[in-house]
Amino acid sequence: MEQLAIFGGRPVRETPIYYGRQCIGQDDIDAVADALRSPLITCGPRVEELERKLCQVTGAKYAVVVANGTAALHLAALAAGFGQGDEVIVSSITFAASANCILYSGATPVFADIDPSTYNIDPESVRRLITPRTKGIVAVDFTGQAVEYDALREICKEHGLTMISDAAHSIGTRYKGQPVGSLADMTCFSFHPVKTVTAGEGGAVTTDDEGLYHRILRLRTHGITRRQEEMVHPTDAMWYNEQVELGFNYRMTDFQAALLISQLNKLDQFSRRRKEIAEKYDKAFSEMPELVLQKEIPESDTTRHLYVIRLNPDKLACDRRQFFDALYAENVCPQVHYLPVYWHSYYEKLGYGKGLCPQAESYYEWSMSIPLYYSLSDEEVDDTIRAVKKVAAYYRK
Ligand SMILES: *Cc1c(COP(=O)(O)O)cnc(C)c1O
Repeated sequence: MEQLAIFGGRPVRETPIYYGRQCIGQDDIDAVADALRSPLITCGPRVEELERKLCQVTGAKYAVVVANGTAALHLAALAAGFGQGDEVIVSSITFAASANCILYSGATPVFADIDPSTYNIDPESVRRLITPRTKGIVAVDFTGQAVEYDALREICKEHGLTMISDAAHSIGTRYKGQPVGSLADMTCFSFHPVKTVTAGEGGAVTTDDEGLYHRILRLRTHGITRRQEEMVHPTDAMWYNEQVELGFNYRMTDFQAALLISQLNKLDQFSRRRKEIAEKYDKAFSEMPELVLQKEIPESDTTRHLYVIRLNPDKLACDRRQFFDALYAENVCPQVHYLPVYWHSYYEKLGYGKGLCPQAESYYEWSMSIPLYYSLSDEEVDDTIRAVKKVAAYYRK
């Protein structure tokens, strides 16, 4: 058997590849350069154009573009009216920002367990956690796969809850043919460079609700409004604007908007390639008893952001750390998504303890994400498959 690189063998690749990477073309660079030459370089015409484009892509009536995905979640949590004494249910396997936005609002995050086969928030777990104080749900389309929107919306309707979708992974995904972005009360996107399309840093909230739209728009700029109907002292003086609540500066620049418009023009292309790579991996790994693959629900037509492999401890004589380190040494560098949010020491100090969500904890113990991004070449995909198979063969029980 071939010696693993970690034990001095020859690595599958000479140069490392990582789990995610942006793809910036000359068209993107030209769009940004163009924007930099115009008179307005922040919150100008390109931000408005981007908001119209996001409405087209998502099917939502309104879109507000903001500085990053975390800002989008923050404003959505405030617009939902979450506050002191409220409980908001959130998935336990996600980036911390999904839960942090609940804390920003003053409300208490309540962690729901995941479905052990899809890794998305389990609607049955959500149901069990509802109390008279529950005000909403933050559901994450983890890896890009749509959550069970029908089941979650039904729960929200029954209990009068606001549903926020954290769609940082899922732009381009459809649920029962409908694009993510028009499936929850508010949907939050991130355009960080590891995501499917990027603005460098960027985010957006989409909604069909006009009231929520105007509130988020106002919160993006300090809580200041020019709309007379929102003012306490309305006047039609052209120079007059009024701060009516405490907001933020969460604006995106026009040159970032130019980059994202250009990237969104390529969303279908990006999406197709990501699906193609995910299918190649599925095919290569489906016959391997050492690995457990993520289950796809038929309702989700997924633009895959992450490709997760989960180790089968019955078939492998190693732990996740050993498998991860061995892959890394082969220069196929994985990443782990994610630590259960309540395992972070900050959350521990708030009183959350281990054992809260057994499925999430077991998922975390055995899983990692392998390289998946638009510009990954066929050769790199093959190298990744070879490296995974090499490490699995070495540790096979
Ligand atoms: C990336 C990400 C965010 C945060 O987005 P930023 O743009 O980095 O602030 C939130 N939730 C999830 C699930 C993410 O992956």
